Amino acid sequence: MSTETLEFQAEARQLLELMVHSIYSNKDIFLRELISNASDALDKRRLAGLKDDSLKTDDPHIEIEADKEARTLTVRDNGIGMTRDEVVGLIGTIARSGTAETLRRLKENRGNKETKENKANGESAELIGQFGVGFYSVFMVADKVTLLTRKAGEPTGVRWESDGDGTYTIETVEDAPEGTSVRVHLRPADEEDALYDYTDEGKIREIVKRYSDFISFPVRMGEATLNSMKALWARPRSEVSEEEYHEFYRHISHDWTDPLDIIQMRAEGTFEYEALLFLPSRAPRDLYQRDARHGLQLYVKRVFILDDSRELLPDHLRFVKGVVDAADLSLNISREILQQDRHIQLIRRRLAKKILASIKELMGKDAEKYRTFWREFGPAVKEGLLDRAEDHKAILDIASFASTAGEEPTTLADYVARMPEGQDKIYFMTGESRAQVENSPHMEAFRAKKYEVLLLTDAVDEIWVEAVRDYDGTEFQSITRGEVDLSTEEEPSAEEAGEYEAVLAWLNETLDDVKEVRLTTRLTSSPACLVSDTDGLTPALEKMYKAMGQ
Ligand code: ADP
Ligand code: MG
Repeated sequence: MSTETLEFQAEARQLLELMVHSIYSNKDIFLRELISNASDALDKRRLAGLKDDSLKTDDPHIEIEADKEARTLTVRDNGIGMTRDEVVGLIGTIARSGTAETLRRLKENRGNKETKENKANGESAELIGQFGVGFYSVFMVADKVTLLTRKAGEPTGVRWESDGDGTYTIETVEDAPEGTSVRVHLRPADEEDALYDYTDEGKIREIVKRYSDFISFPVRMGEATLNSMKALWARPRSEVSEEEYHEFYRHISHDWTDPLDIIQMRAEGTFEYEALLFLPSRAPRDLYQRDARHGLQLYVKRVFILDDSRELLPDHLRFVKGVVDAADLSLNISREILQQDRHIQLIRRRLAKKILASIKELMGKDAEKYRTFWREFGPAVKEGLLDRAEDHKAILDIASFASTAGEEPTTLADYVARMPEGQDKIYFMTGESRAQVENSPHMEAFRAKKYEVLLLTDAVDEIWVEAVRDYDGTEFQSITRGEVDLSTEEEPSAEEAGEYEAVLAWLNETLDDVKEVRLTTRLTSSPACLVSDTDGLTPALEKMYKAMGQ
């Protein structure tokens, strides 16, 4: 087949343009991205080899080759490789949702760059982190990239080339080795842009050591292996730098921002495993999509087995990233087995416990980080209040809620500690927004009485309040339901009762949808309010059921 020229998908083109114009100040990371992809490809090949002997390879490795004269840098792996369709689909397009929006904001930032350089760069880096530019980062340093690849087991290979302007060429080649090589044609060195000489051996060594030391395949240059290949989770915490953890997190999560917290654990005894987990600092866009990718990486004795193992975490902690390395599982374990394995269920329970305990610790030692965590992941964590009752206490312990007591969310422990003499329940009201709930007539008596009310406005709040009775012995009570026993509520006098008898009878007659209209002293400024039966639905839940057609 002859050479074809194709266009990058529109969003890919925009991203490339941003790369070419270097919105990201740290250019070194292009090498990390190429090595990370090579490592992923080697993992995939190893897995394919387990199923099909002919796909096995003796010496899985990554090779870096620099040519000072030609100003090229080549990263080569003998991993899984790509077919022609895969090259077009994976390299020519960006399939992630929300890309267009992110790109628009990146562009805006770039417009500001001259005036507010640092701030704009910070924001841009964060935006990029939302999808990770991956392979395209190579265009920060390249004026041409040549990718040669052959999928393991396929007869022919593919040559792909682009100078990052909007089109690429692609052709079939007969003699490509299995795996992938990416040849980077470096732009002329540019002092102003701090474009280093990436053909310099010392520079390459330094970058690999800094960003890719933990990669579990050898990264070689000539005869030398540049990385230690040490599994980070197996090393004592005191020996690993924060930076190394962060790089590892980036590799496994494909997130460019630093994690909020690192959780390490080791279980010894009959069933041994080690885990290294990370709390991200930002919720992914697809956190609430059922089919979104999530889960931990599963290793067995340092060997990568499965990505996205959901079975290792309960759903409400699905945002946690990391690795579990179990000593006693079979290397051939499949997803199907994983779902039923008793040991895996045990690991899941232990990890969940440990994660919740770590978040509680975070609350104590870094309030700011905790607030970020809860803002990003609170609604997901609260879904856990719908499963196993034995976890409720641990979840409620780390939860915080908006409340009438102030602008900042409060924990339940703080709420209970503030309860005045005579109050014996945790009062709450659910609704769509803080303003809506705060202005509800139901609130009046509580305001008068100076009883604090939790303002629950996440969709999941409607549901968990039905499932959870109390926090540490103090019951939850909706203020929109039945007999809320506020002792301000005096009986209306006989005189008042007589005065209103006729109008009440008429209202009871006329308002078909209302069960009963009665006189109250509960309101201080509103003329009327709707109250649910003690076991009736909350207004918002009623609305939700109606919307679902029930
Ligand atoms: P990500 O690694 O986050 O998926 P990248 O932009 O880095 O995104 O890479 C896009 C895709 O291209 C990868 O998911 C992978 O399928 C494919 N790819 C990139 N480099 C290689 C490689 N060396 N070998 C095989 N596939 C690769
Ligand atoms: Mg990648």
